[in-house]
Amino acid sequence: MALKLFDSLTREIRELKPSHPDGVLRFYNCGPTVYAPAHIGNFRTFVINDVLRRLLELEFPGKVKHVRNLTDVDDRTIGQSKKEGHPLGEITKKWTDLFHADCDALNCLRPHVEPTATGHIREQVDMIEVLMQKGNAYRAADGSVYFKINSFPDYGALSRIKERELKVTNSAFDADHKDDVGDFALWKAYKPEEDGDVHWPGPQGAAAGRPGWHIECSAMIKKHLGETIDLHTGGVDLLFPHHENEIAQSTCCNGTTFARHWYHSEHLLVDGTTMSKSKGNYYTLGDLVAKGYSPMAVRYALLAGHPRKQLNFTLDSLHAAESALKTLRSVYDEVCAKVTADSSEKTGSVGQMSVMALHDDLNTPGALGILFRDLKHIRDFPTPSEVRDFKRALFALGFDFSIPSSPSAVPTDVTSLAQKRWASKQSKDFATADALRKELAAAGWSMLDGKDGYKLEPLKK
Ligand code: AMP
Ligand code: ZN
Repeated sequence: MALKLFDSLTREIRELKPSHPDGVLRFYNCGPTVYAPAHIGNFRTFVINDVLRRLLELEFPGKVKHVRNLTDVDDRTIGQSKKEGHPLGEITKKWTDLFHADCDALNCLRPHVEPTATGHIREQVDMIEVLMQKGNAYRAADGSVYFKINSFPDYGALSRIKERELKVTNSAFDADHKDDVGDFALWKAYKPEEDGDVHWPGPQGAAAGRPGWHIECSAMIKKHLGETIDLHTGGVDLLFPHHENEIAQSTCCNGTTFARHWYHSEHLLVDGTTMSKSKGNYYTLGDLVAKGYSPMAVRYALLAGHPRKQLNFTLDSLHAAESALKTLRSVYDEVCAKVTADSSEKTGSVGQMSVMALHDDLNTPGALGILFRDLKHIRDFPTPSEVRDFKRALFALGFDFSIPSSPSAVPTDVTSLAQKRWASKQSKDFATADALRKELAAAGWSMLDGKDGYKLEPLKK
């Protein structure tokens, strides 16, 4: 069955196919800005993209090239480096390392290439010079370079933004140096008071400085995937202006179609508003692990809603995820141990139907629903084809039960005791809190209280 996915540009569900004669599907996913920990909202996007990557691997084995960048220079990274008084590279390395560890814990496949913006300054400068030569970009009075949106008639096609809205949206930004309020920066002239020691020689005719955020993706895509890619993805907030600007830059520079398919997944919310670093209303994976939840449960909870719909995050959803995973794992262990011989290899296995739901516009809740609806069937009839397809569905969703569950994984009842105790302590009901601590100890766990949360540790035997 063909792999079909909503395309944000045409607003249709379309089949995903490689377009190059070598048959390699070129996939670019905008990566994190490494100035703070990625929160689980960010990971909703990365986990959804990981399912996409896994489906592509199944559909086009050995013929997928996945690139995801690291934004390691922009206003936020420079701002953080100034605030902390540490060099930019030190800050971005610290958060990149944590991002990698969290991705591994969430069982996300590593991209084939993970380029950094600072490692591709030359490529960005080259593109800007071409855009200046072609008349799509101009030098402003301070030596910065801006893209002239009027030079690209298709500007706004992805976001369907109208000129009037554009003026309102962009009016707060550095209007001082631009010809038109909608124009955006390709290169930002060095400002010692803001940029510290972060600067590079600029494009011909421009001042020294640093690239704008949008050009980095265009340049890294061109270098690692070529001028036309098959799939470009990110969270919905990237649709405008980031992806609109990428299209303008790349199309004008290269003179070819930039991305043949665009996919944007929706946000994770907390209490009805978007989880974001700037609002401070976020959980990191580390926060949840410290509360006793497993990274796999977080992955499960992030996939439990349809990727193109907003999803409200609750700790209850993690409870449900832990117990769903426990059930899946027990069926996995059971059927792997007793695959029955079967001569009648038939199509329409449970696992196959689950993967088919994923092929239908990445319907992750549908895929999980099918697995659970028919788990009894897999358990009762573990024929080779059923078991193979069950494993395939688990692979696509990224649940790896081939690794035995960690002996220190916190059981659900312990997690719930700990949560009750923490709530009692917060409401100053110390008698209940003490009683619950004893119950936890009897179950073999100790709870270490911190200022904003707690950690569970198995008691030494
Ligand atoms: P950033 O590190 O801010 O550049 O964001 C990395 C990725 O996370 C981008 O694809 C964003 O669209 C995505 N993102 C940001 N906030 C959320 C959220 N609350 N839910 C889902 N994805 C998000
Ligand atoms: Zn990007």
